[in-house]
Amino acid sequence: MERILSAIKPTGKLTLGNYIGALSHFKDFQDQGESFIFIADLHALTLPIEPEDLRNNSRDIAAFYIASGLDPKKTTMFLQSSVSAHAELNAIVQNYLYMGELKRMTQFKDKCSKMADTAIGMGIFAYPVLMAADILLYEATEVPVGEDQAQHVELCRDLVRRFNHRYGEILKLPKAVVPTVGARIMSLTDPTKKMSKSDPKGDIFLHDDPRAMRKKIMGAKTDMGPTVTLDPQEKPGIANLLTIYAALDRIPLEEAAHRFDGYRYGDFKKAVADKLDEVMIPFKARYQEIVDSGSYLDVLRDGARKARAVANKTLHKVQEAVGLLTL
Ligand code: ATP
Ligand code: MG
Repeated sequence: MERILSAIKPTGKLTLGNYIGALSHFKDFQDQGESFIFIADLHALTLPIEPEDLRNNSRDIAAFYIASGLDPKKTTMFLQSSVSAHAELNAIVQNYLYMGELKRMTQFKDKCSKMADTAIGMGIFAYPVLMAADILLYEATEVPVGEDQAQHVELCRDLVRRFNHRYGEILKLPKAVVPTVGARIMSLTDPTKKMSKSDPKGDIFLHDDPRAMRKKIMGAKTDMGPTVTLDPQEKPGIANLLTIYAALDRIPLEEAAHRFDGYRYGDFKKAVADKLDEVMIPFKARYQEIVDSGSYLDVLRDGARKARAVANKTLHKVQEAVGLLTL
């Protein structure tokens, strides 16, 4: 049976990119195998964040998980920091990944290229190490992620091969599962940049009200020429809006392109905004009910208990393999 693991880090308010690239797929996965979905709060500390924001973002993600259809009976939902095995396995596996590999990671380069070495915390550099520990603890076979995180899963696979070559078949080899449509939603104001919650430019936030969402879609940067065609090189703004539509309607990108071929930009944007309403209004109503009930806190507590049991087993196996005395 497949073991599925994924997470979102509580670095900011969730975006439409997080919904399309991650959240909207989690529910499908929980029906295909055993699923562990967590809130990567330790990862959120890798760039400066106010404690109050971290707390609020973490609670918010929990409520969004449940609103997206994750069922606590099928999916173990928990906070990364509630399971100390993440930090313990991190301390071991960090010795099997190398500086050169970590320096090549695109996320590290993107987030730190303009920072002085003296301002870059160890955590952001070593981020893929902790992420590998996250994945390995649950013996995940499938890791649904957007495109930006696929490289980190690849690195985790290298680590597994290296580790198992040295110690035998101890760690499970995971694989990244990247959605075919919507793995990389771009900024609405600059379609050459990824929509990101920690660096919000041209983001649609899940917290935006329907009017604000519509205004952002209608004002999205478009390209030369008056009508819609799918051409990611020449028309990245239109390609991004077509991707958003296709992902929300759950159809292939080419089908969306065919549906709107020759539309004038204004009419097309209106159709995208309508689709967004259709998906977001009921989703956010569910979210609000969950927030009001406060039930997500019990879900996280129960989830942490279940997660600890699974994670500690793997940790123990790894400790023994490398020669730590487990007394
Ligand atoms: P940060 O700016 O803090 O890195 P983020 O918006 O990139 O935030 P993450 O917490 O890094 O979000 O990622 C959570 C999940 O959302 C991951 O699976 C990631 O691949 C996915 N994701 C993030 N941004 C996008 C995007 N623009 N399009 C599609 N998927 C995305
Ligand atoms: Mg990210």
